[in-house]
Amino acid sequence: GDELVASVHRLITHADEVRRLGVRTNADTADDAARARRFGAEGIGLCRTEHMFLGERRESVERLILADDDAEREAALAELEPLQRGDFLELLKAMDGLPVTIRLIDPPLHEFLPSMEELAVKVAVARERGSASEHDVTLLAAVERLHEQNPMLGLRGVRLGLVIPGLFAMQVRAIASAAVELRARGKDPRPEIMIPLVGAVQELQLVRDEVSRVLTEVGVDREIPIGTMIELPRAAVIADQIAEAADFFSFGTNDLTQTTWGFSRDDVEGAFFSRYLEKGIFAVSPFESIDREGVGALVRTGVERGRATKPDLKLGVCGEHGGDPDSIHFFHEVGLDYVSCSPFRIPVARLEAGRAALD
Ligand code: PEP
Ligand code: MG
Repeated sequence: GDELVASVHRLITHADEVRRLGVRTNADTADDAARARRFGAEGIGLCRTEHMFLGERRESVERLILADDDAEREAALAELEPLQRGDFLELLKAMDGLPVTIRLIDPPLHEFLPSMEELAVKVAVARERGSASEHDVTLLAAVERLHEQNPMLGLRGVRLGLVIPGLFAMQVRAIASAAVELRARGKDPRPEIMIPLVGAVQELQLVRDEVSRVLTEVGVDREIPIGTMIELPRAAVIADQIAEAADFFSFGTNDLTQTTWGFSRDDVEGAFFSRYLEKGIFAVSPFESIDREGVGALVRTGVERGRATKPDLKLGVCGEHGGDPDSIHFFHEVGLDYVSCSPFRIPVARLEAGRAALD
């Protein structure tokens, strides 16, 4: 047992000496970050901040979504900001001295609201008894207004930030002020801000301007890089333009696979893919291992066009593929700077990054 552990350790140490790819982790909590650090993570490549809006914070989020004037919206954001600040403080502390890419909130809003069907039944039953609460009626109207047939192709990512004033600014203020506080305590926080689901340079430029304005207000404008996910085919194709407004790219190969193939990442398995695999039409799911001809070609295009604009543009990947051995070889070949994967896949990612360099 001990001998095996020692030889695996030697192997990984050797891989670390030869690999060119950095290995970061996807982590949303200080616990995950600390665990990943023990596995050798060299930073966080993706912190999904949407997870921070669940639990008891749902009420404030609901208030934010229901707000129908500036004052109500600002009040809801003011409730969330100190909580977010605490989240980022813990995360940056756990990753002290290492880069932490924090992605601004991404998912469709309806994920924070009750299900339309259940609420409609509740309101209908209450109405029959003449006792429907005003809150539930207003909530139902909002849920109906936000309902989308294809929410993953709808109001999420950068679109949310552009439609709800102050939402991204609140998160950025929380990140920046957490960094200022840690620095005052002698720590070395290294946050990076990442914008999700960008498809047009106009979207990125508008958000970038807002983010920069907040960073200037907090007095940290020069130190915090602002980058974007590349997770839509259009973003990969116009990466030369996008690079003008980005300090770094991180390829979101989950959404990029979904949008390139037109496969719903949430439904594909049950809908038909298991049968594709059974029949041998495909040997492996493109959500597991990078599809080099399609999705991979878009990644390559994004790399080439992005670096044509900015030769030193920092490039990473934070989709599930970042922890998949075959995909890691591909990311090495196309010249990414780092992969980011879940904490438990870090050792394998280090090993494969080393093997890719030796090949
Ligand atoms: C992605 O789309 O690859 C990604 C990393 O973001 P998420 O999985 O959160 O959509
Ligand atoms: Mg995504």
